[in-house]
Amino acid sequence: MSRTRRHSTGAALPQGGAGDTGPTTLFIGGLGRSGTTILELSLATDSRVVSLGEVTHLWRRSLLDNETCGCGLGFRSCPFWTQVGELAFGGWQEVDPARVIALKRRLDRSIQTPRIGLGLLSRSTRAEVREYASYYTRIYRAAAEITGASVVIDSSKQASLPHLLRADETLDLRVLHCVRDSRAVAYSWTKTVSRPESQTERHATMVRYPPPLTAAKWVQHNLVVEGLRPRGVPVLRVRYEDWARLPRAEVTRALAFAGLEEQPNDRLGDDSVDLGPSHTCSGNPARFRHGVIHVRSDEKWRSQLPRRTQRLVAGVTLPLLAAYGYLGRRT
Ligand SMILES: [Zn+2]
Repeated sequence: MSRTRRHSTGAALPQGGAGDTGPTTLFIGGLGRSGTTILELSLATDSRVVSLGEVTHLWRRSLLDNETCGCGLGFRSCPFWTQVGELAFGGWQEVDPARVIALKRRLDRSIQTPRIGLGLLSRSTRAEVREYASYYTRIYRAAAEITGASVVIDSSKQASLPHLLRADETLDLRVLHCVRDSRAVAYSWTKTVSRPESQTERHATMVRYPPPLTAAKWVQHNLVVEGLRPRGVPVLRVRYEDWARLPRAEVTRALAFAGLEEQPNDRLGDDSVDLGPSHTCSGNPARFRHGVIHVRSDEKWRSQLPRRTQRLVAGVTLPLLAAYGYLGRRT
């Protein structure tokens, strides 16, 4: 297979070598609105890393709706994703998005993870799990092959997905468990955020949740990620607040977890990061930001989320909120 390291969109492609063992897949898990988009792009400032964005949404938003890639081109026009499709499947026309979406609806759900983890599946369902996982793993391997990256990031966050990816026993899967104070996450989900990448709606916005629902989802998603450890999947927890305080140190720690030794990286400062174009297929619109940004923790929730709501969210999420170090001191 050919290894192309240049293409015409201007987005920097990583250098390095995938090696004989294939790429490491670094899956970012947790609940959305935990600051993971800028973290993902910060990790991708390392030349050995390629970030793909939220691959879980590729089937509908990219293949069916042709939403905008992180490089600014529509998915179908992006040379990187065209190459990935050709290498992974012989072209995207060989993939039936409706089939993948149907499998996703049936299998890729938090409620399914206990059955999957315990192997309580029929033979036909096991075959479907392998098929579903293969759509993702082919993309990861093709992206590594094309770019020469040794680490591929999927920031899907959907916590049930890595449980299914275990069906490919040859995949070097590691999970970055991103957590953020549940009260901050609850506040973030109440805000209106536009989705400029949408090609089907003129004024599309990201979905919003009321704080009690976000609190329940926060607990559920984090528990599903925690459930990976007993299944033998390496998991590293990164707190948004720590990363926002010490971005370089936390990125270095996460990359070491992915098997990458520290190397000079002038795009990553002690409290800033120089974001470049990426080929993230989907994700928070923050992925379209370019240039140097100063990283700092967004603490607006402390003044903007009503006290009563803060207490409610803290109550619902209490055990994990305490376990993750969010109670007792200001983090
Ligand atoms: Zn692109």
